[in-house]
Amino acid sequence: MRDVDYVRTLPVGVRHVADNCAIPALDPAALRIRRHILLSGCQSLTYPYWRETVDKETGEIRRKSEFRVSVCCRQPIDESVKIYRHDTAVGYSGLMRCGNVWACPICCAKVMRRRADQISALFEAVHASGGSAVMATFTAAHTVHDDLATLLDAFKSAKRAFTQSRSQRDIAALRSGALSATEITYSPSNGWHPHQHDAWFFRGPSPDADRLADALFAPWRASAEKFGLTTLASYRGHRVGVDVRPAWDASEYLAKFDREREWSLSAEMTAGRLKLSQGKSMTPWALLEDAILRGKDSPAAKLWIDYLRATKGKAVVSLKAASALLKSFGMPTTLDDFADANDVGEGEVVGCISDISFDRVARASGLGRLLEAARSGGLAEIDRVLQSDFSASSNPQKELQL
Ligand SMILES: [Zn+2]
Repeated sequence: MRDVDYVRTLPVGVRHVADNCAIPALDPAALRIRRHILLSGCQSLTYPYWRETVDKETGEIRRKSEFRVSVCCRQPIDESVKIYRHDTAVGYSGLMRCGNVWACPICCAKVMRRRADQISALFEAVHASGGSAVMATFTAAHTVHDDLATLLDAFKSAKRAFTQSRSQRDIAALRSGALSATEITYSPSNGWHPHQHDAWFFRGPSPDADRLADALFAPWRASAEKFGLTTLASYRGHRVGVDVRPAWDASEYLAKFDREREWSLSAEMTAGRLKLSQGKSMTPWALLEDAILRGKDSPAAKLWIDYLRATKGKAVVSLKAASALLKSFGMPTTLDDFADANDVGEGEVVGCISDISFDRVARASGLGRLLEAARSGGLAEIDRVLQSDFSASSNPQKELQL
């Protein structure tokens, strides 16, 4: 049974509260499997971006994809792949992970869980030492005609200029540190929307949020204009260019870039989200879903490839302005998404599968299903599912579809 079929057998109806309204969420098993479904779908979409290169010295032909996510969780490092359990987590070990937090649902979940712990620990340490924090969001105007790579570069350059501006330096002197997270959403009517959520920390009480937002807007607009961007102070009564809010703990800040918040079961949404969302903003995962549903020649697929190219090599979370603060608490000052994604924790080995069996399961898009088997019934269930769903004699499954 492929991941996509197995997920349909799971109960749905768990609800959680976000942004002041209850939204339906998947049950945890469906959510876990969904990551594998999205990764498989992303790998199908990036299939045309593999290239063959000939090694000049040996004449050997090598295949390489433009995107590292194409090989994530697909290539066993050894002759077997282990399935391990660590606390409540069950996962594969012995597979190369891409570490792309922007575009890989598996690596994003693993790495962002760590980032959330690290950021929560920093907030706690700041508050415990008598300090305070605010959350500052920076945005710039954009249209549906803007190219993401150009927009993202201009935005990042503007933010750098803003950070180095004289008026900002005075405010920065009051801070004990800052961290920054970049987020990108898309709306069919307004196009790509890169923006940044900063957390600013102060040694004592933080300045009044509204007054700080007022003071930051003019220098932010001036910096944005230097790079051809415009920004608005407010729109429909809400601050947009710069918004500042007090942050008592990390939860509200982290919710801003909880990348799985808007996942939903869209198997029924055959029209696709691009059509349904209209003016509303979509997360990149919603775009990916749409691209998988509509196929590699769809507008959503083109947008997804643009997104992969524009975000390549860029950091999601930056700790540059928090080094001294982190050091003062004895916390690590650098982040390595690739290392964190590939870090194999201590765990109990539940089962071991040969690279041949693994390849068969991967080709049938059943990696999520197999992990659920390991979770519910250990080795016996892994064997049963390998025999019943993924044996050599069973029909090879076609390419994944949502
Ligand atoms: Zn990955």
